[in-house]
Amino acid sequence: MNTDTFAYRHIGPREEDLLEMLKVVGVKNLEELISQTIPDDIRLEEDLNLSTAMTENEFLNHIRDLARKNKVFKSYIGLGYHPTILPGVIQRNILENPGWYTAYTPYQAEIAQGRLEALLNYQTMISDLTGLPIANASLLDEATAAAEAMSMFYGARSRDKKKAGASKFFVSIHCLHQNIELIKTRSEPLGIELVIGDHREVNLSEDYFGALLQYPAADGEIFEYDAFMADAEKFDVQVAVAADIMSLVLLSPPGEWGAKAVVGTTQRFGIPLGFGGPHAAYFSTTEDYKRFIPGRIIGQTVDRDGNKALRMALQTREQHIKRDKATSNICTAQVLLAVMAGAYGAYHGPIGLKHIAQKIHFHTVSLSEGLNRLGYTQVNQNFYDTLRIELGQVDKEEIRSRAIAKEINLRYISAHEVGISINETTNMEAIEELLEIFAEAKEASAPKIKLLEVSVIPESLKRTSSFMEQSVFNRYHSETEMMRYLKALERKDLSLNHSMISLGSCTMKLNAATEMLPLSWPLWANIHPFAPTNQTLGYRELIANLERDLAEITGFHAMSMQPNSGAQGEYAGLMVIRAYHQSRGDSQRDIALIPSSAHGTNPASAVMAGMKVVVVKSDEAGKIDVEDLRAKAEKYSANLAALMITYPSTHGVFEERVREITQIIHDNGGQVYMDGANMNAQVGLTSPGAIGADVCHLNLHKTFAIPHGGGGPGMGPIGVAEHLASFLPGHPLVKTGGKNPISPVSAAPYGSGLILLISYGYIKMLGMRGLKASTQYAILNANYLKERLHGAYEVLYSNENNRVAHEMIIDCRPFKKESGIEVTDIAKRLMDYGYHAPTVSFPVAGTVMIEPTESESMQELDRFIEAMLSIRREMAEIHNGNFDTENNPLKNSPHTMQQLTSDQWDFPYDRKTAAFPLDYLYQNKFWPSVRRVDDAYGDRNLICTCEPIESYMEEEA
Ligand SMILES: *Cc1c(COP(=O)(O)O)cnc(C)c1O
Repeated sequence: MNTDTFAYRHIGPREEDLLEMLKVVGVKNLEELISQTIPDDIRLEEDLNLSTAMTENEFLNHIRDLARKNKVFKSYIGLGYHPTILPGVIQRNILENPGWYTAYTPYQAEIAQGRLEALLNYQTMISDLTGLPIANASLLDEATAAAEAMSMFYGARSRDKKKAGASKFFVSIHCLHQNIELIKTRSEPLGIELVIGDHREVNLSEDYFGALLQYPAADGEIFEYDAFMADAEKFDVQVAVAADIMSLVLLSPPGEWGAKAVVGTTQRFGIPLGFGGPHAAYFSTTEDYKRFIPGRIIGQTVDRDGNKALRMALQTREQHIKRDKATSNICTAQVLLAVMAGAYGAYHGPIGLKHIAQKIHFHTVSLSEGLNRLGYTQVNQNFYDTLRIELGQVDKEEIRSRAIAKEINLRYISAHEVGISINETTNMEAIEELLEIFAEAKEASAPKIKLLEVSVIPESLKRTSSFMEQSVFNRYHSETEMMRYLKALERKDLSLNHSMISLGSCTMKLNAATEMLPLSWPLWANIHPFAPTNQTLGYRELIANLERDLAEITGFHAMSMQPNSGAQGEYAGLMVIRAYHQSRGDSQRDIALIPSSAHGTNPASAVMAGMKVVVVKSDEAGKIDVEDLRAKAEKYSANLAALMITYPSTHGVFEERVREITQIIHDNGGQVYMDGANMNAQVGLTSPGAIGADVCHLNLHKTFAIPHGGGGPGMGPIGVAEHLASFLPGHPLVKTGGKNPISPVSAAPYGSGLILLISYGYIKMLGMRGLKASTQYAILNANYLKERLHGAYEVLYSNENNRVAHEMIIDCRPFKKESGIEVTDIAKRLMDYGYHAPTVSFPVAGTVMIEPTESESMQELDRFIEAMLSIRREMAEIHNGNFDTENNPLKNSPHTMQQLTSDQWDFPYDRKTAAFPLDYLYQNKFWPSVRRVDDAYGDRNLICTCEPIESYMEEEA
């Protein structure tokens, strides 16, 4: 046996366990299981054409060589992306720590209090800095956050009769290019009329429902928006402001001068450039919009004992759950990055942030003074960190060649103007270097400049309000304190480094350390997304290679790496389909057929792409009702745009008739969109191309090993068949996409470029054989679980051979009748056994969906099975009358250490039954930090920021 392969590490079951597992499943070998699971007519005839697997060591050498093809220049480009300093304590304890990065979205609040607290800190910081009371826990990037604000205003118009017909949205020409372009993409299918212009010239009227401004503007000018805001107020126009988070430390926050939403990126708070991402976008708004806000909000509530606890608030109002009534499709966001930005805020505190923000400004002032002395004109009347320099007689190429020689990137605005954005890393040496460039271009000598510690921000624009006075931002400024605070939070969360997280549809597999290591390397981390092409050759080679491999895996012609989540991929794919129909004069095609079992993002994305959703039924066996599908496809054949299907279905089964289904759609003029969330059951065995799909997205944070990060980052690239390739999304600043590209769907040309390294490593190290084996073992592990649970728990759906794909739905509804136990009780009781619940009540209410993935060993599966069977016995005890129907270990779960060690124990069962029901728990116990949280209470009393400092003072008093 060759033990020096990555597959040996990635795949859980050992060779010696395989026979036992096959026996349980009742097959001779893996191939027999696969042939009973996947329909013959969609099996790949040939193996994937991928390069042979690298060992982990070979991969690290390879990715280091590739990194050397990138050049890290000092970046003064700005435009929403700046070099930063990531504090070591955050890098080591969060970014590089599986305790944080392998966590799932915090749906199970009792074992997620750590990241919930970290996100509440983040929301509080955003709320304070922007001057608005409600902030969400992150969005994907600044440009999409700006578009979300537009959609939120648009969706909320109907509350006001006068505004119900208003369809104009004003966008300032001074906004960042990517913000303007993305708003174009998002407005058009909704029928929003964009007016792009100068805010000083536009005549607002009743016809406008909203507007977007940039603060400071793209070229650095800080406008006083008073007159515009007064007009907006007069005509009841809702204004969103895209603001630079660092500048808000010193500038009067938009929330204080009338903005109804403030959006932007928190990249500047310690997050590496990463060639465009991942970074957490922020979004804050007024109380008025709390039921309309996109993304997730963390709120306070209480647990069973009335203790304070945190949870995701308004969960059932989470936008995409509203399906075709949603105004946003955001599901995965940027949790890990929000946690890091919040930690940066806590580590520096208000005083540290002021110091950093001022330092940036003072260096900018000093540079401006130096350039002035050299006779250059600085055009911005008011600036924070960005200068706009008129070159006069000097040619911009004179500047450019000198800058390049010093390994410096500036922003070249026009033949006579350059832009310079100063950042946290800039010191006086760097300022001198910049001055030399401008001096040499004039054959002058650089003036000697000292750091000018003066602010040139006029009083009227200065921030006067205090911020971040809560204790969390004022306690952890020494590294020891910070390290311990982060550890204390981490300990409250159950992640993959404790036990299996068998979340159906979410594929929580191994996120290998070797895949993650290169993310911290400067040659990958410190590259600006708009850096010149010849400095990003390593990235370009990596992306081209990854595109080729993913095209091979999906059976498609071309890929776009732009969408930075699965839902964004859905949106991008549907927009491509829309462009295709339009190019053929078929712009009436706007019907999207979507099965009733689809993920909520599918209908939400369809509506955002201007489509009307028609739901297709499922039959009793959980499959698409093909006759219903045929009838609807024919009925709408003149207007059919697309079918969206998940394959294998969200019911965990490979539908035998899938080729017939895709044929029906094509016969009626539609395109087939495949939701790729379940690709972990396909890779190497079948493909979206093989089933007849035209487009699919891949959740790289599911099948392709990017960690979930507690709810993000993710990547959702799309693959398309040849006839759709020319429409793949473009970008205003970097050439990418097809020949007739749709406008961008993300702020950065390649989405969250940095994390593509992970999926690249995953594919390169597994190679063709390892990828195929991974899929086989994912299917084996699922069927093994199914057989072992059989008799205690029954699966709801399986195929004709009684097989499930890589996941299965277990029906928990019968227990309700039998013993009064609901699916939530089982989910919470699993915590006492050291496990995170599988997916609860999706896609069928009252069920759990279990997906073990290939990375889990037989021993871990057995432990989980033991826990599930023990819970089943507890249910039987209730049924038999040995446990009370209300006061039993399931209803009271989870149990905390505080309860267990309390002198009082009033429960009719013993402590061991409560917290150590199985022996393995003595070796490895996880303690939920709160008792069961009260969801309704939290929604009724929404508190989504940390409490003000006074409440702590009361506590101490
Ligand atoms: C996860 C998932 C999505 C959404 O993907 P995100 O990356 O969270 O936006 C869509 N469909 C299905 C079936 C999923 O499981």
